[in-house]
Amino acid sequence: MPNLSFVTPSRNSPWGTYLSQIDAVEPYLGSLARWVETLRRPKRALIVDIPIELDNGTIAHYEGYRVQHSLTRGPGKGGVRYHPDVTLEEVMALSAWMTIKNAAVNLPYGGAKGGIRLDPKTLSMKELEKVTRRYTSEIGIIIGPQQDIPAPDVNTNGQIMAWMMDTYSMNVGATATGVVTGKPIPLGGSLGRVAATGRGVFVIGREAMRRLNVAMEGARVAVQGFGNVGSIAAKLFAANGAKIVAVQDHSGTIQNEQGFDMQNLLDHVALAGGVAGFKGGDAIANENFWDIKTDVLIPAALEGQITAERAQRLHTRIVLEGANGPTTPDGDAVLADRGITVVPDVIANAGGVTVSYFEWVQDFSSFFWTEDEINVRLDKIITGAFKGIWETAEQHRISLRTAAFTVACTRVLQAREERGLYP
Ligand code: NAD
Repeated sequence: MPNLSFVTPSRNSPWGTYLSQIDAVEPYLGSLARWVETLRRPKRALIVDIPIELDNGTIAHYEGYRVQHSLTRGPGKGGVRYHPDVTLEEVMALSAWMTIKNAAVNLPYGGAKGGIRLDPKTLSMKELEKVTRRYTSEIGIIIGPQQDIPAPDVNTNGQIMAWMMDTYSMNVGATATGVVTGKPIPLGGSLGRVAATGRGVFVIGREAMRRLNVAMEGARVAVQGFGNVGSIAAKLFAANGAKIVAVQDHSGTIQNEQGFDMQNLLDHVALAGGVAGFKGGDAIANENFWDIKTDVLIPAALEGQITAERAQRLHTRIVLEGANGPTTPDGDAVLADRGITVVPDVIANAGGVTVSYFEWVQDFSSFFWTEDEINVRLDKIITGAFKGIWETAEQHRISLRTAAFTVACTRVLQAREERGLYP
């Protein structure tokens, strides 16, 4: 089969990582394996130019993407990332992981993702709004409540979703709340959405610990990335008796053997913009983060963090993937050799898209649920999905990652086979 001409992945790059995960699952797909090439190609990839006038009068151009990896099981669904290192290859991988995640949890979606190559910290609010609105207009030809529904990811939030919703609505001439999720509550957002990914990381971590006989009380937990996902997961672990002994973010790494006072740390980050300078812990070198003894290590920042070299050094029982794609294939192989359980991103961080699904459903019915209803339904859906993945792993004696891919790819390819090829 010819390779794609527009991407040349290396083994440990995001798309290379995804392709090796598909290679690993192929033997477990039975007769559906004849369709597997579908998963190695995005259905559709759009690259857009985003010109805006900056506050100083100059014209700046940014590169934006929206990739729909699969629409086989339903509309596309996946976040939008603003980061200077975003590439088409990265967005392709993130969109493919959304296909797998949505199918692993059995949400009625395909997989998609978007991004803009920019550092939002260099833009004013007005400039950020212009970039967001122009990007939304450019990708407007492929998104929509029934086509593809964006959501927040790294460096995007409820305000950006509000601008996206407004721009799309203006273009189609009707308020279309269901075009994005992760919106502010007054615009059709859902209670519990902001915390949902971190909450899901905690819920799945709790389930994995229970099955591996790791006590929550006093468990040592370290978190890389203290944004939406990492900070909320850390807060929930601490509230349930665990100790957060190390945190790393873009500003630095801090450690406290007794466990941080979470409220003080959250207050510090809200004011200072990062963990560096926090008085309730000691600063350590960034690379030493990977040597700290833990029961649960939560990468919740970016891809490619747990390399083979770092995997050799980890002292942990469980790697709980809050970020998407934080472990390289070489890192994964080392962790498997060393008997460290990896709870893969496609189930560990699926809480966010699950509550996004609730938000989309609530928007269609214009009937909103209480936060308790949302949290109970979230817990039930993702623990049920995790149980199925755990049992698949035991049945085939495979990793939780390959098991999650087995469950998900079986669902996607079964749908592919039943729909048949058009024309
Ligand atoms: P965020 O922007 O809120 O936070 C990102 C965090 O990572 C920040 O604390 C930042 O300081 C830190 N960081 C950035 N570069 C770093 C580096 N080089 N070293 C250490 N830390 C660094 O983003 P988020 O929404 O919390 O997303 C984090 C991860 O979780 C991403 O992989 C994202 O794709 C994934 N994820 C997010 C959601 C969601 O709902 N937000 C859902 C599923 C998965």
